[in-house]
Amino acid sequence: MELLRLQTKVLEANLDIVRRGLALYTFGNASGIDRQAGLVAIKPSGVPYEQMTPADMVVCELDGKIVDGRLKPSSDLDTHLELYRAFPSIGGVVHTHSEFATAWAQAGRSIPAFGTTHADYFHGPVPVTEELSAEEIEGNYVLNTGKAIVRRFRDLDPIAMPAVLVAGHAPFCWGKTPMDAVQNAVVLETVARMALYTAILCPDGSGISQALLDRHYLRKHGANASYGQ
Ligand SMILES: [Zn+2]
Repeated sequence: MELLRLQTKVLEANLDIVRRGLALYTFGNASGIDRQAGLVAIKPSGVPYEQMTPADMVVCELDGKIVDGRLKPSSDLDTHLELYRAFPSIGGVVHTHSEFATAWAQAGRSIPAFGTTHADYFHGPVPVTEELSAEEIEGNYVLNTGKAIVRRFRDLDPIAMPAVLVAGHAPFCWGKTPMDAVQNAVVLETVARMALYTAILCPDGSGISQALLDRHYLRKHGANASYGQ
């Protein structure tokens, strides 16, 4: 993929985060990867959204070495890179502090699969990480955030579960492309809001059955996906 095309896609994803109301001020960032070239493009830090151009997207290698861009990358870069290194099937990462998903993250609670809206995108409860230790926070905090996510996914498939809540912080989402990751972040926020209302109405609810979860997730994402046909 041509570098400018990757940068354009990443810019579009960053602008979409704002359009969809997921970012308060600059608390949001999207990135994308060209797997063949081994290059990641990410939002620069400290540039107003209205002024951003594709060429402002900072390009670096998977180890963080900057190869293009005179601007500084988003301060969350090391979390994004850790996810790209650990999950070879993903092509885009989005981080926001969207309100309802962040509320669940702050509560340290995974989001139960209460209904089919959830099941269409997330094949099970959206997991929450462990809290970071003092050493992890005082050390390479941003990288350690990524490592906490990867630890949480030891027994999870990042394609079937394209989102995570970082305890006491906020969600990270991903997808096959940067725009896919934005869509997952938008749906996560809606699902998080619905789940809060559901938990208020039905504090003992444990969610939908495995059969209904599978039926909805697999019709959209399974080998014989029929959704939308
Ligand atoms: Zn954050």
